[in-house]
Parts: sequence; C-alpha cells; structure tokens
Amino acid sequence: MRKKQLIAGNWKMNGGLAANQILIDALLQGMGSPACDVALCVPAPYFSQVQALLSGTSTALGAQDVSAQLQGAFTGEQSVSMLCDFGVRYAIVGHSERRQLHGETDELVAAKASAVLGKGITPIVCVGETLAQREAGHTEAVVKHQLAAVIHANGHCISEIVVAYEPVWAIGTGVTASPDQAQAVHAMLRAQLRHAASEHANDIRIIYGGSMNAANAGELLAQADIDGGLIGGASLKAPDFLKIIAAAC
Ligand code: PEP
Repeated sequence: MRKKQLIAGNWKMNGGLAANQILIDALLQGMGSPACDVALCVPAPYFSQVQALLSGTSTALGAQDVSAQLQGAFTGEQSVSMLCDFGVRYAIVGHSERRQLHGETDELVAAKASAVLGKGITPIVCVGETLAQREAGHTEAVVKHQLAAVIHANGHCISEIVVAYEPVWAIGTGVTASPDQAQAVHAMLRAQLRHAASEHANDIRIIYGGSMNAANAGELLAQADIDGGLIGGASLKAPDFLKIIAAAC
C-alpha cells in the first residue's frame, strides 16, 4: 500500500529568527490538518526554534544534511544524535548542492543514510542528473548508480528511506521536468527498488524536486510514481507552499 504523499520544504541557507516565526505561523494557520505528511528541512541553528514552533503539530522537523561520523573532531558538522536531540525526523542526504559544492560521493551519501537510519531518522536521499548527463542520454545510469550505493549499504532497511528525484538542471532554475519526464525516471527508480526490496517497493516514497511550485505541483503530484515533493524556493513563501500541500492532499 502506498504511503501518504510527503511534501518537504528545503529552506537551504535562508531564514532568520523573525522570518521563521512569520513563515511558520502562516503555514500552521493555513494548513489545517493536511492529508499528506509535511516536513520543514531548516538550517541547523534554527532547530530549537522550529522544534518549539512545530511542537504539537503534525509538521515534522527536518535537517538538510548530517555527518556520517558519530562524533569527534569534525569541525562544523552535525551528528545524528544532535539531530535526535531536537526531534528531527527527516534528513536530506546527497542534495546536488552538497554533491557539487562539497564533493560528496555516492558512498558518503550512502554512509549518511546509514547513520540516520541507525537512529530512526528518515533519510531523504537525493539523486539526479545534470543537463549534460541528460543530453548525453545518461539519466538512467546516473540516477541508478546513485541509488545503488544507498541500496547496497542499507539493503536491510531500504523500505525506510525516501528517494528524491531532483534533476540538477531543474533545481532553482525555474525549469521543471515535465510530468512525463519526471514520471519516467520515478518509474525507473521504482523498478530498481522493486528489484532490491520487492515486497516494499510500492511503500517507498519517491518524491520529485526541482522548481516545483503552486502552478505545476498538481500535475506532477498526480503522476503514478510521484509520492510528494521536495520544495526549495517555493517553500519560503507560505501561500505557495500551502498550495503545493493542498495539491498533494
Ligand atoms: C531543492 O533545493 O531541493 C529544490 C528542489 O529547489 P527548488 O524547488 O528551488 O528548485
């Protein structure tokens, strides 16, 4: 049975104490009791504030990254147990900005997924091809290779992950994958998961990210293998994010 759709906001390196309060107040007021799952992946310095603002609501707190290491001399990193201290329920791993700007490899992303799974946090594992890779016809090979590393390291609990298909050329560009393009990749990823975890493949949420907005969310979220969205820019505007949540529900 398919799980509820998941709409996760990725605030990236945006926010501030006052702005966060205004945004979350507006979201909670407008959201009511959504039929989908909702998460906000916020910058780590705001975990405490956002945890308090979301307390008693069904909206989950998420992180944008995590260390694969459990503790020690890793300046600037946050461990999984630190995330647990603030009630974090989801952690994005392998976002293309981390892969591209911080050189994160498939193996490191898989280790991060293992670290959070070990503490009961759901990893949102991002995969996606660049424009050059798509134009060279390599989309399938690229996304499957990225996901394979995570399956290899976490086969025993693969049903606990969320996969986010995020074509790099669609992130923050205003160019969205068409519903057909996105569905085709989601179906490939579902088939790969079926191969790895046949009985659970339909339960694993595969969400889409890349310039999803209030106008295009309905059509994307209606695709058979799209189980939600990872939303960057539009998650910072309450009316837009609320429309996406409504489209999912
Ligand atoms: C993202 O950063 O994960 C993302 C999908 O960003 P945007 O919605 O702005 O393209």
